[in-house]
Amino acid sequence: MPYLTEAAKILATITKFASAKIIWADTEVAGWDSPKPRLSLIQILSEPTDINGDCAYILDVLDQPELVTAFVKQIMANPNIEKVFHYAKCDLHYLGGKKQAKNVTCTFNLVKKLTQKKRRNPLKVSNKKLKTLAVELCQFSSVDAEEQTSDWGQRPLTEKQLHYAKMDTVYLAHVHRRLLELTALRKVEKFQHIPFIVTHVRVALECPRLFYFGYRFRKKTMFLQSNQSADISSAFNDLSEQFINIAQQESQFSTLFELPFEQLQEEQVTAQIQELFYKFAFFPYWQTAIQTNPDQVQALSQLWQELTVLIQRWTKLLLSNRRYCSAQEVISKTFIVHEPGVEYNFPLANGKQELLTRRWDNLAYDFKNHSLHVVEYKTYELPDKSAQLAQLALYSYILREKLGLAVDWAVYTMVPQWQELTFSGHQLEQTLHQLIPKKFQQMRQWVGWEHSQPNPPPLTSHTEILCDICPQRQKCQTFFAVEVEKGMRK
Ligand code: SF4
Repeated sequence: MPYLTEAAKILATITKFASAKIIWADTEVAGWDSPKPRLSLIQILSEPTDINGDCAYILDVLDQPELVTAFVKQIMANPNIEKVFHYAKCDLHYLGGKKQAKNVTCTFNLVKKLTQKKRRNPLKVSNKKLKTLAVELCQFSSVDAEEQTSDWGQRPLTEKQLHYAKMDTVYLAHVHRRLLELTALRKVEKFQHIPFIVTHVRVALECPRLFYFGYRFRKKTMFLQSNQSADISSAFNDLSEQFINIAQQESQFSTLFELPFEQLQEEQVTAQIQELFYKFAFFPYWQTAIQTNPDQVQALSQLWQELTVLIQRWTKLLLSNRRYCSAQEVISKTFIVHEPGVEYNFPLANGKQELLTRRWDNLAYDFKNHSLHVVEYKTYELPDKSAQLAQLALYSYILREKLGLAVDWAVYTMVPQWQELTFSGHQLEQTLHQLIPKKFQQMRQWVGWEHSQPNPPPLTSHTEILCDICPQRQKCQTFFAVEVEKGMRK
């Protein structure tokens, strides 16, 4: 433990520490309770694994303001060095104040957050003093708390005082590390309780990082080609969802199916449904949209063409289902709509369960074929169909468990170019038992990832296709690069 009293050595040490990335620091003040307190010592440590203070430096700055000024200029004001103090407010009072000090971390504030009573499972410690935390969180023993009130203005300082001074930085480094671990753990615990929605599984299969952004920060996860508009994609999703809702609520729709099913004319019913949908949903939407953005006219015309194709498909399905349901029931039994917020427990092999909340759009059941139909607006060529298969497998599981509907096969349809992917009941079952439980476990690990940890969620395995059209491309490049690097030095 170097104890430095000569100005030249102190200045050289300050210069040496100016290239550190992080330091744990403390101060001792002479006459702290008098009208004229004087800064006596500055203790610094940059080696977090030190347990006996051998690497700590004690700078004797009593009545040497030029040395304090040099410390403030080179260390405190340097934003590239993270300075960790316990109860930083007091130390900053002698080290340039809030105005000059940059990049300061206060362990007292960290522990304050962790012990808040409103938190789930708050941290329990006897008090928030550094020495108490060193004993209770880091298992240090023989911690001396008495010297704090000794005379820091006397010279020479006693061995006991110097020991006390160096050990403060050691306790601080270990307490800081433990508090960061506990903070990360609490975040992981917090995210273990927020259920997934089915779409999360699909996004996680396409790109774990994009899933992380969507789940943790509610960022957009829809891939978009540069010439495509996110507004049109979400307009398609909104309007197709509205179609299902309006068809369920407006009796004019079910009236169209009142004739015996043999007499129903597909062309005629399709035209009538299109007309109703245009009147109830598309026209009001169009009016609002062009008022806010007149440039959208052409895109909206294109959107209507895509919706009419969707309406034709749905009408065909409704007419087929009419054989199995009454006119009053056919719409509600075809389009599967649940109250929002309904939760499902998916059993895992380890005996645990994964909670899923429901959110699905454009989900329809085909009675003749025992099949499930899902429509999604896609703006890119799918690099891997397993993500869609997983989504359908979960839907089929929920239908079977909650509604008692067996699914023998599933159709995944994509617009604007109509493309159909079909999956057999066997594929759905296999995915459900083999791929999904493992994926859920990985997803839980990914959502709990924090910057201080290794192994962040991995990149997509289709970087050449998906990264170019990813809505979070920029964030992905900066967020993971910077944060991984930051985590490694902690
Ligand atoms: S840029 Fe690529 S790796 Fe990053 S989130 Fe997007 S798709 Fe995933």
